[in-house]
Amino acid sequence: MIKTKADFLDSHRRMHKRIFMFGEELESYIDHPMVQPSLNAVAMTYELALDPAHAELLTAESSLSGKPINRFTHLHQSTRDLVDKIKMQRLLGQCTACCFQRCVGMDSFNALDVITFQMDQELGSSYNQRFRKYLAQVQGENLVVDGAMTDPKGNRKLSPSQQADPDLHLRIVNEDEQGITIRGAKMHQTGAISAHEILVMPTRSLSDKEKDYAVACAVPADADGIIYVYGRQASDTRKLEGGKIDVGNYHFGGHEALIIFQDVFVPWERVFMSREYQYAGSLVELFAAHHRTSYGGCKPGVGDVLIGAVQAIARIQGTDHASHIQDKLVEMVHLNETLYACGLAASYEGNPSESGTYRIDYLLANITKLNVTRFPYEIARIAQDIAGGLLVTMPSEKDFNHPEVGPLLKKYLVGSHEYPTEWRQRLLRLIENLTIGAGSIGYLVESMHGAGSPMAQRIMLARLANMETKESYALKIAGLSETN
Ligand SMILES: Cc1cc2nc3c(=O)[nH]c(=O)nc-3n(C[C@H](O)[C@H](O)[C@H](O)COP(=O)(O)OP(=O)(O)OC[C@H]3O[C@@H](n4cnc5c(N)ncnc54)[C@H](O)[C@@H]3O)c2cc1C
Ligand code: SF4
Repeated sequence: MIKTKADFLDSHRRMHKRIFMFGEELESYIDHPMVQPSLNAVAMTYELALDPAHAELLTAESSLSGKPINRFTHLHQSTRDLVDKIKMQRLLGQCTACCFQRCVGMDSFNALDVITFQMDQELGSSYNQRFRKYLAQVQGENLVVDGAMTDPKGNRKLSPSQQADPDLHLRIVNEDEQGITIRGAKMHQTGAISAHEILVMPTRSLSDKEKDYAVACAVPADADGIIYVYGRQASDTRKLEGGKIDVGNYHFGGHEALIIFQDVFVPWERVFMSREYQYAGSLVELFAAHHRTSYGGCKPGVGDVLIGAVQAIARIQGTDHASHIQDKLVEMVHLNETLYACGLAASYEGNPSESGTYRIDYLLANITKLNVTRFPYEIARIAQDIAGGLLVTMPSEKDFNHPEVGPLLKKYLVGSHEYPTEWRQRLLRLIENLTIGAGSIGYLVESMHGAGSPMAQRIMLARLANMETKESYALKIAGLSETN
């Protein structure tokens, strides 16, 4: 069982993944400076579970084995569990200021448990039993699982079966007594390199012409036929420069990768949906609802770090006394806490499914995510306002260390003389990281598109808003209901 950071890194030393980055296949990824910050961020999900101050939040009692497990592998058994998940994500956001990569898997488990249970009840299949057996192993070994939903999708106007290339959505290409073979790709995979397992799910609702695309299954992350291509992030090569300041967040960072499945064999015991196209849509919706709510935990956690950095830079630059600065900081707090409030509300309004696993409130989950598509951008805008132009014109760390210009930079780029220039340098780099650098991928663009672009939430809101009931309230108050 993986318990410590060292166990986690050792588990990866035993894996043989094919990873491409900058046009080359990596020989090893554990010690690669581009990958290390991501592994450090995931390792925090193990380290905090061992910390007596946080163990209660980071662990739960397994509904499958009755044993203590890491909460990232838990099936939520109550609204308290849903709330604790959000609190755990905020804590991890505060401790890493980046994506800690384990929530997509956790949200996938909770969606798959509910939907496979429903499938078994209606179809007489045994997918839920299979899935729970698999999950018990994940819990027992404390594994990191990548939730792989998003297909490349090709021409968005066309359904999977209408695409010029049928592989643009991942599909079953063969089936025999031992299992199935899948081909395709999954895009934007959060923490793919940090994962031990990949949990594949369909990307959208499907018709009876698209049965081969209705597939959910688990694959070891280093299975034969899997290729990873590491995604670039803004300012990513600063990690290769050898310094500690210009990266902004030296210890932690997230990553995404494209995963290509070149005819990967999956034994039946790891298959949890195989052509039952009529359940693809509800699986996507439930996963998305859980993950949309997750952002009400992690983004406010990262927001706390950004707000803290802005508060500090205002003090260092001598603007903290100004009423407009104080008001802008209050506005950042207001936006940040609104996201958290939404995440908590969706959790408190959760409800039990037939399988016993708790579902999140769909309407409030989508409200959470729609706010997440906007508020971090506004928080980032205010951060850049208060930070000033040096945020984007500051010379490099190497210049600060140069024998001739270094002292000049320290002289001219100082803020308030109570603070060394390096404080200003470090805090501006952190704000840069989170608002336009590598950290902005997780804090901003992922807030826009992760778990579905804003229109996907609007479609759900239109469906869930129950406008007829609202209209009936109005008609009654206006004295019109009797006359209709
Ligand atoms: C940083 C990051 C991390 C992610 N992590 C994961 C992960 O771990 N696992 C995972 O499975 N996925 C992950 N995703 C994927 C995420 O769910 C998708 O980005 C999201 O669903 C949008 O899909 P897309 O990127 O293909 O954009 P598109 O779907 O192409 O959307 C782009 C725009 O086109 C619009 N659009 C799309 N289709 C149509 C249409 N038919 N008609 C009209 N307008 C349309 C959208 O509304 C949007 O405005 C991640 C994404 C990001 C950015
Ligand atoms: S974006 Fe947030 S919710 Fe999603 S995996 Fe990263 S930290 Fe978790």
